[in-house]
Amino acid sequence: MSGLIQPYFTPDWRQRVIDCACGWQGASADMAMDLQEEVTDFACPRCESLLLIIPHPSLDQVRQAAAEGHAEAVQQLAIIEEAFGKPDSTA
Ligand SMILES: [Zn+2]
Repeated sequence: MSGLIQPYFTPDWRQRVIDCACGWQGASADMAMDLQEEVTDFACPRCESLLLIIPHPSLDQVRQAAAEGHAEAVQQLAIIEEAFGKPDSTA
């Protein structure tokens, strides 16, 4: 199935309605979510087919998306920098 794996910062993956082969259709919020170490899987709640795989973003990907103005990335970067400190702090 093409499009199964989506970059985390694809703007609309959460809202995208996906058709399952079993006839179910819905967006990620309606799927069965399985948080794994490196990816989050979303499966059909009816037949458990995998419909969406979202790799967790790397710090570089968060930084790049934040630099491009992605609102969620900006928030995540703020949380990361709060937790770990800014690497390029000029203080
Ligand atoms: Zn299904």
